[in-house]
Amino acid sequence: MPGTPREPSTLARLLDAAACQLQQAAADASARRLAERLWCLASGVSREQLLLGTAPAPDSAQSARFRDLVERAARGEPIAYLEGSAGFFDLEFEVGPGALVPRDDSECLVELALERIPPDSAAELVDLGTGSGCLLLTLLHHRRLARGTGIDRSAAALEVARRNRDRLGLQGRCRLLRADWLGGVAARSADWIVANPPYVEPSEPTGFGVAEFEPGAALFTPPGDPLFAYREILARASGVLRNSGRLLFEVGAGRAAEVAQAASAAGFALDELRRDLGGVERALLLRPA
Ligand code: GLN
Repeated sequence: MPGTPREPSTLARLLDAAACQLQQAAADASARRLAERLWCLASGVSREQLLLGTAPAPDSAQSARFRDLVERAARGEPIAYLEGSAGFFDLEFEVGPGALVPRDDSECLVELALERIPPDSAAELVDLGTGSGCLLLTLLHHRRLARGTGIDRSAAALEVARRNRDRLGLQGRCRLLRADWLGGVAARSADWIVANPPYVEPSEPTGFGVAEFEPGAALFTPPGDPLFAYREILARASGVLRNSGRLLFEVGAGRAAEVAQAASAAGFALDELRRDLGGVERALLLRPA
């Protein structure tokens, strides 16, 4: 129902409860799994070889590379940067320090958009702060007639997005633009605006290694102004959207109500609020009021 936050499903509750129960076992298992991934990276051995016990004994060059990778991972460098790629939704994305590592939390934005954009839609999508391109490129991959524009202020991020776009064969339907938010987008040209803007206040805690290794411009808001990016986008969004267009935001934990309020002041009504798999209200779908 429009405007009604979805309760976590029975399955989500079941998984959450199991996650609590399994925490220590999972920490041990995931540390071991991480060590295995780093060994594969250092040695060139495949995961299958490792699991089947057919991996050759380590040589000294591999061991040295492995120790270096273990040290870097232990200091918080994201495994995705070490490996150079990360899975998102059903695709694999190249990543590097110029762009935020795609987060599982963001997958609910794609899920929601794909429920609303019909398979044969030729929708025009704009993705602000596109980073690796994971949101936009996943949508374009699943909506073969849609077209998109990915916008970022960072040249390094756009380079990562370009490689992902080309690897997915989407260069014919996706342009990438260096600009500030909606600055370079023509009036009434978009059916969907999607954005995962920076929403972490500098004083807020972040995950291990996040602040040290991932691009601050993609994460942090000015001190005391967690809504700054949303306001910038909202100020131009209604001029850029076509009639019955949609605006889809990712929001930080506990921020959905404030962002919805800012959106309402800019002429948008809440269409749907969706939680991520961790139960956090994460995707905010807005329509012109
Ligand atoms: N969810 C990200 C984090 O874990 C923040 C992403 C953002 O600011 N848009 O830190």
